[in-house]
Amino acid sequence: MRTYQAQFVAAAPEAGAFPAPSGPELAVMGRSNAGKSTLINTLVGRRGLARVSNRPGRTRAINFFDVERRFMLVDLPGYGYAAAPRAEQAGWNRLVASYLSGGRPLRGVVTLFDVRRDPDSLDEALIAMIGHHGLAWQAVWTKADKLKRARLAGRCRELDRALGTPAEGIAFSSRTRLGRERLLAWIEERVGG
Ligand code: GDP
Repeated sequence: MRTYQAQFVAAAPEAGAFPAPSGPELAVMGRSNAGKSTLINTLVGRRGLARVSNRPGRTRAINFFDVERRFMLVDLPGYGYAAAPRAEQAGWNRLVASYLSGGRPLRGVVTLFDVRRDPDSLDEALIAMIGHHGLAWQAVWTKADKLKRARLAGRCRELDRALGTPAEGIAFSSRTRLGRERLLAWIEERVGG
């Protein structure tokens, strides 16, 4: 399995703390607990790079990871934590909007959804926000190992339709590494590597 040299660069709780752009960027976004930290670790092949949290909703910062000095993986904070007050979601919106509209060399957004969950209006609003910024995005259906194989493909197409994905979403599992190669291929294409 190909692994990547990756390192943590910065955790930015506000726009003033974003590191200076140093190459193409690729953002990863998902609802709190969708499996984002686990996916980042699985992608680069390094356990413990992104912190897998037992307390969703705790991190309110954008984390920047340098990958082989070729591109930056930008870990947007999880959204929609059930116990988060409205003000916290507003803070999330401000922080993420300041990143998306900050003139960064952002090449695309990987959007994660738990394969078992139906998207709601918050998910739809955030997808619309990505579209509004004219960004390429790739849907990823996480925790695919939780569904029976016979059910998985049908469920993925159901989610494609529900969210109006520009291309088929990728079924992904950090347990089995299903979808890892497909997602890496998309990322490599976007960052021009
Ligand atoms: P985040 O809040 O989006 O960063 O989510 P985490 O990466 O912290 O994962 C949330 C929970 O889902 C953890 O208990 C993980 O072990 C679990 N999880 C993440 N990815 C997978 C997966 O592919 N399969 C299964 N079965 N569980 C997963």
